[in-house]
Amino acid sequence: MKVLIADDNQISRVLLRNSVERWGYEVVLAANGLEAWDILAQTDAPPMAILDWVMPDITGPELCRRVRENHREPYTYILLLTSKNTKNDTVEGFEAGADDYIVKPFDDNELRMRLRAGQRIVDLQMKLMQAREELRERANKDLLTMLPNRPAIAAALEREISRCHRDSRTCGVILLDIDHFKKINDTYGHFAGDAVLRETAMRLRGNMREYDQVGRYGGEEFLVVLPNCDLEAATKQAERLRLKLYSEPMRVDGAELNVSASFGVTVSDPAEGSPDVFVRVADEALYRSKASGRNCVSTLRLEESSVALAH
Ligand code: GH3
Ligand code: MG
Ligand code: MG
Repeated sequence: MKVLIADDNQISRVLLRNSVERWGYEVVLAANGLEAWDILAQTDAPPMAILDWVMPDITGPELCRRVRENHREPYTYILLLTSKNTKNDTVEGFEAGADDYIVKPFDDNELRMRLRAGQRIVDLQMKLMQAREELRERANKDLLTMLPNRPAIAAALEREISRCHRDSRTCGVILLDIDHFKKINDTYGHFAGDAVLRETAMRLRGNMREYDQVGRYGGEEFLVVLPNCDLEAATKQAERLRLKLYSEPMRVDGAELNVSASFGVTVSDPAEGSPDVFVRVADEALYRSKASGRNCVSTLRLEESSVALAH
């Protein structure tokens, strides 16, 4: 673990460094408060800092205050070094946001134990951050297909549409629904149905540009978001995906299943801000594909749809 040592006195800086390095930490040195502040403001700043109280330019407590105002993550554990030891001073140090302090001249073993306590806190905080990140990822993921779930792909659609409209571009929207999926479940069982959903997700994901996105929108419904795409290009992409699903049977439990899907395609319109509208238009187009025999692609612009009339 990296530890910043900031002390304007060269002798005590070097002595401190020798000890701290001997205990297995990687040391970063600062000869004054300004240097320390530069290091602490970097994105990969050391998670622990030993700051001398009295330094020209920026003092230890002032550095503490600045670090805390920054609210950066991961947390910086700060240990203040002071030769002052009246009660008021320690209170000031804690008020500035220090986690601990040690009075000079200090005992090597004591500093070592206090660093170890700090390291425990830093470790715990990093574990918490990781757990939070994992939770957030899980909350956005459909656990069967590992694609973004409905709220996540809906949020992606909203983001991409507003980005496209800022650049005076349109965003392609494809909604697709597996054909006669209930029959697959009824004939081969629910597990086979699940396997078909996973295989469908893989084929969709594996046949898209990197900046396009696909999510599981419902049971056997998927939503594809194509930034900077017009209706013609979105339709071509839908046709490509349709063939990727249908042209090769899916192998599930030793059986070969011919799986197809029906597609509805539209593009966003800069005059309309709500992303839900485009999903409804795509859904109407999808319904037309179902009505005209399934396993095909239908396109619809907002102004041609019944959504526009109701609007
Ligand atoms: P259509 O061609 O008109 O879309 O017919 P369909 O049978 O695909 O449509 P329907 O809406 O009648 O049936 C969808 C079925 O999908 C019903 C539901 O039990 C099943 N389903 C939804 N989610 C899952 C899932 O996670 N796993 C499995 N195995 N089945 C699911
Ligand atoms: Mg279906
Ligand atoms: Mg359906």
